Amino acid sequence: MCMIDDADMAQVYDSQHLTARKAHTCDECGREIGPGERYNRVRGLWDGHWSVFKTCAHCDALWHWFDVVCGGTLHGGMGADLQDHWGEYGQPNLGRLLVMMNDKWRGRDVEQVRDLVRSNRLYRDVRAARAA
Ligand SMILES: [Zn+2]
Ligand SMILES: [Zn+2]
Repeated sequence: MCMIDDADMAQVYDSQHLTARKAHTCDECGREIGPGERYNRVRGLWDGHWSVFKTCAHCDALWHWFDVVCGGTLHGGMGADLQDHWGEYGQPNLGRLLVMMNDKWRGRDVEQVRDLVRSNRLYRDVRAARAA
């Protein structure tokens, strides 16, 4: 079950990749996004309320998995969605990503996250099916 399936669509949605000028907190993993780091800032109107979500570069790389496999996920809920999907599909990469995310990506670089996403079997199957 994908969180995105039950989610309200935003009436207005604006996503920008920015460089942090001051410290922010990632709304997915909770780590601090330090000044100078790239992050994604989303501003949207959901059900008449404006919300802003910040996503660190690591979480943004993981978000790509959800974009391809599920058609997206929920802002602020990606970790829970990942947990569900790991339980459902039981693929080792998803478990590793979950452990790394829960550890706020400590000691991991973004490239490692991208590699795990790209080598995930489900991700590859979906991409191959679309290309066929
Ligand atoms: Zn899904
Ligand atoms: Zn994060």
